[in-house]
Amino acid sequence: MSLNNLFTYEIIAQETPNIKRNCSKCKTNTEFYCSEKFRVNANQKIVDIWLIYNCIHCEGTWNYPIFSRVNINKMDSMLIQKFMNNDKETIWYYAFQIKKLRKLCNDVNADIRYELRKEKLDSRSNEVTIILCYKHDFGLRIDKLIADIFGISRSKVNTLSQNGTILLNPNISMKSKVIDNLQITVKGDWF
Ligand SMILES: [Zn+2]
Repeated sequence: MSLNNLFTYEIIAQETPNIKRNCSKCKTNTEFYCSEKFRVNANQKIVDIWLIYNCIHCEGTWNYPIFSRVNINKMDSMLIQKFMNNDKETIWYYAFQIKKLRKLCNDVNADIRYELRKEKLDSRSNEVTIILCYKHDFGLRIDKLIADIFGISRSKVNTLSQNGTILLNPNISMKSKVIDNLQITVKGDWF
């Protein structure tokens, strides 16, 4: 049976990535979770802002520097309010700065839980096309995502890719990370 439909799948992160670094209390390389709280220090007009992480074992803290010694007059007052109020969207924006976090830490555990919000757009073609989008990039691999969507193994995904059943637009490697607006087209009725 062919489903003959066009869908969008929005990839929605369900949690922020943990970071890995040495905990001074545990005296070992361990994971820290994002506390979802900022620390804002204002000394006259000079502001420091961090995002607080806690060790999963001992609750020891590590502060991710967001702004260091910035003149408060040069900052957007709306943004300062968001830091003061621990605005979730702002916290998640910084918690998903995976490249920056990797430079400051030993590693980032980006293997996080996610959900897919599906929306049916059209039903005119004789194939299924899925257009992907997301708000938070966590380096999800395309073959892993397709395996999750269709409930098949990654090796099956690669077989279907090699025989032209699954096509990507743009035509990038199945081992690449998901990019915004990537289109996955599945031909035929194998599922
Ligand atoms: Zn610790």
